[in-house]
Amino acid sequence: MHADSRGLDDPFEATGIGAEDAGDEVVGPDVVGPEETGGPDDEESGGKESDAPQVDELEGRVVADGDDSRGAVRRRVPRGGEEPMRPQVKLYLEGRYRKLVRDLPQTVFFCPECKGHPRRRRKCERCEGFGKLTRDSVQELVAWVAGGFYKTRKQKFHGAGREDVDVRMLGEGRPFVLELVNPKVLDVDLAEVEAEINRRNAGRLEVRGLHHADKSRVRFLKETPHKKEYGVLVELEQPVDDERLAALVGPRRTIVQQTPARVAHRRADKARERWIEITSVERRADLVLHVVMRTEHGTYVKEAVNGEGGATRPSLAELLGVPCRCAELDVLEILDFDAPSTLAGPREEAFGAGL
Ligand SMILES: [Zn+2]
Repeated sequence: MHADSRGLDDPFEATGIGAEDAGDEVVGPDVVGPEETGGPDDEESGGKESDAPQVDELEGRVVADGDDSRGAVRRRVPRGGEEPMRPQVKLYLEGRYRKLVRDLPQTVFFCPECKGHPRRRRKCERCEGFGKLTRDSVQELVAWVAGGFYKTRKQKFHGAGREDVDVRMLGEGRPFVLELVNPKVLDVDLAEVEAEINRRNAGRLEVRGLHHADKSRVRFLKETPHKKEYGVLVELEQPVDDERLAALVGPRRTIVQQTPARVAHRRADKARERWIEITSVERRADLVLHVVMRTEHGTYVKEAVNGEGGATRPSLAELLGVPCRCAELDVLEILDFDAPSTLAGPREEAFGAGL
């Protein structure tokens, strides 16, 4: 697993992300897709993933990324085939997911070598022809069940940001929209879909609040910034006294983060100012702490802990005066938006609560 290289707790860089660009369209359990890694591999990227059209392996043509209008649909008709252009029917299911394990990516984890390309992957040594680096993902576990009910294997998954593959998503869960393309069945009991997803993935993944949504929700989820609460298991290199631990808790601190090395290949190298608030510190062992912190949208949490050799300042390591690292990370809650309208009075409802 290459969690670190995927850059999880990574900031929301793009602002003008189009719903049309977002999401990973895959076909059935046997995944195809020419994209880099199957999407922005960062927490809160919200960024567009790829302009590359998605290859629909079953039908052997290129389907434009989600546009219903005839004019904008680009598709390559199969060799020798004459297929009339027809608009796609799309159905949007919104809900929240809780990820209870540390080995599950949010979206299809395409092999970085062959990108899961149907032809190139056959000779790929990295993935041994599988096209992916993990067996499944939140996207697939949700879509395989939902797609079965709606009788379609074509879908895209849109998350409100994303956590690293090795980061659990707890609390009320993370909002998502599953976009189903050309469903052949429409009369589906969503409570049944939800129950079946949860039955099949008990202990790994939970979905809640599944309901039909409007297309506009995709853009909303992708573009709305939200602060988050994290639980961090911190390993210290040297002991730290109680007084120093207690001093961490309380004030909102502004930190400056230079783009971390692990995401430098796809993010501009620049300094970003973010805030963090440490709300509790608990000693679990001499050299192990559990720290709860809230962070502004787009904070690189792992670097906020270890400081990355001074690239993030101040870091938890700097505040404690000893080197330390993030051993385990959980998203405890996605909090209400940082939208201007909420600045007047603090609201700490979970993001998307009451949907
Ligand atoms: Zn491969």
